Amino acid sequence: MAIVSEGQISVVLPDGSSRQVESGATGADLAKSISQGLYREAVGTTINGELKDLFTPLKDGDKVKILTPKNEESIELLRHSTAHVMAQAVQKLFPTAKIAIGPTIDDGFYYDFDIPEHNLSSDDLEKIEVEMARIAKENQRLVRFDIPDVDDQLRQFKEQGERFKAELLQEHRDHNPTMYLMQDKDGNTIWNDFCRGPHLPSTGNIKAFKLLKVSGSYWRGDEKKDHLQRIYATAWWNKADLDAYLARLEEAEKRDHRKLSKQFDLFSTHEEVGPGLVFWHPKLAAVRSAIEDFWRLEHRKRGYQFVFTPHIASEKLYQISGHLDSYGENMYSAMDIDGQPYRAKPMNCPGHIMIFKTQMRSYRDLPLRFAELGTVYRYERSGVLHGMLRVRGFTQDDSHIFCTPEQLESEINGILDLIDYMMKIFGYTYKAYLSTRPEKYIGTDEEWEFATNALETALKKRGAPYDVDEGGGTFYAPKIDIKLYDAIGREWQGPTVQIDLNLPTRFDVNYIAQDGSKHRVIMVHRAVLGSLERFVGGLIEHYAGVFPLWLAPVQVVVVPISDRHHEAAEHLMKLLNDADIRAHLDDRAETMNKRIREAQLDQVPYMVVIGDKEQANGQLAIRHRRNGDMGLMTPEEFVHRLQAEIKFKEQ
Ligand SMILES: [Zn+2]
Ligand SMILES: [Zn+2]
Repeated sequence: MAIVSEGQISVVLPDGSSRQVESGATGADLAKSISQGLYREAVGTTINGELKDLFTPLKDGDKVKILTPKNEESIELLRHSTAHVMAQAVQKLFPTAKIAIGPTIDDGFYYDFDIPEHNLSSDDLEKIEVEMARIAKENQRLVRFDIPDVDDQLRQFKEQGERFKAELLQEHRDHNPTMYLMQDKDGNTIWNDFCRGPHLPSTGNIKAFKLLKVSGSYWRGDEKKDHLQRIYATAWWNKADLDAYLARLEEAEKRDHRKLSKQFDLFSTHEEVGPGLVFWHPKLAAVRSAIEDFWRLEHRKRGYQFVFTPHIASEKLYQISGHLDSYGENMYSAMDIDGQPYRAKPMNCPGHIMIFKTQMRSYRDLPLRFAELGTVYRYERSGVLHGMLRVRGFTQDDSHIFCTPEQLESEINGILDLIDYMMKIFGYTYKAYLSTRPEKYIGTDEEWEFATNALETALKKRGAPYDVDEGGGTFYAPKIDIKLYDAIGREWQGPTVQIDLNLPTRFDVNYIAQDGSKHRVIMVHRAVLGSLERFVGGLIEHYAGVFPLWLAPVQVVVVPISDRHHEAAEHLMKLLNDADIRAHLDDRAETMNKRIREAQLDQVPYMVVIGDKEQANGQLAIRHRRNGDMGLMTPEEFVHRLQAEIKFKEQ
């Protein structure tokens, strides 16, 4: 234990060492005491793990990390501070603009504005960028300011017409509200904003940003409240990072599944049907069927049993399950059947429990693994609906495992195996997160500990890295969430595994143990693909519409050069059909080149040309969409080749 001299405090650095600084010292003082270089680079701190301003006073015993642009955490400070710079610029250019909120989001930030009688255009965005660059260059300091008199500040905000700020301040008045003053080098306040921070020390650190787009929004996301204009933007520490990000954005736009759907004729939604309800066209339905076949095979191999359950059920079921209470706002209103209220199912779990409970199960019957490609209906606000990724009706690859406590760990391990196998087939890398008990929960501490341990032990034994999301579990279950990373490094919500401490009790689900007594069953919910709509929508973007052979909607196009080659083409088509290969005979009266070109544009993996020469020697001229001309093969050789490639699901 270091002895701390009077007037000094001791703080702990990231390497575990202690350091003495003057009492009242800030992160900036600490940085300076370590080195001038660090002081120059410093942009903020984390104090006991929390992101803070560089000028936040330190307390004795604090764990302090000085942040520079090299630390991942510091980008938040940059983006959030740039949001204020943007708001200042907007109010400078549009003096009637009133400001709402400006949080950071993945890779950037936005700010909401009320600008009476002006719709922001892309020209405006350019002007705002120029003004922002000026503010950044001015090196304005961002100074924290504790509001001494809330009522007086409220009055000022109202006088300025800043009604959103006033509303927020009123709400936070008892939480030590702070403002941030943006000051020039002489200490004159140029602009201020109501904010809890933290921020960069000055705008001089802001060097690379871009305003991306304007869209409509509502105050507090409420369609009945003020309509606002939202500017989306991004900021990075340097131009190279910004350029790389913009290139990724452009790539992502090219891969947008809604855009590729138009190009390849994949799916549609319809105004007269209602938003968020997806129609799978034949090509995408073929992709889905291939995935479902694969899914069924892998589940059968692992001892799952398939079930089907109804799409509607009496409200009674959801009263017992508790969904009406805890999930009611996501469920569609009741329909009347014989005077009884029925609901569209939001989840498959109660249905699987119904099947489990038709018999008294013994420990010898367990584990039971029920699996269903179960279609569910959940309400989502129309504003958040997005192509196939966020919809109102979707099919989950849902499964519920009923087991004894002794079996739990190996069941979890089996699920993780399956997840690993399937995600690798699709070419995703992934990372696991263990979400532990939240503040509000049901069940006993022992149950939570047991369930969390089972998940953690299974994760540990696999040796793969995972992160812990403290308190991130649902109220009824600790869980493992898997995040997927696609071909361009974007993160997607992936498989989940949850241990349920709620439904087995609500439905009184038991089994007979070895000693003949009744025990509560352990129930695990798990989805590997999640929603098929979202998964396949994501796959379209992951593959940029170019599905590997095993998933390709059409795997082979057969092109006979003229009518006299028709017989050989039909013969090949029969071989392909018999081998369960998705083939299309293109015998239109178009030139061979045109037919090949179209198949190529359609990203059909293989194209087969049959002409006089091929017909005479019983061979096929094969063309691959990426590798081009592959020479001649007999029909049998070709079919074998395809079968092998499909079987191994080559990318
Ligand atoms: Zn702020
Ligand atoms: Zn479930």
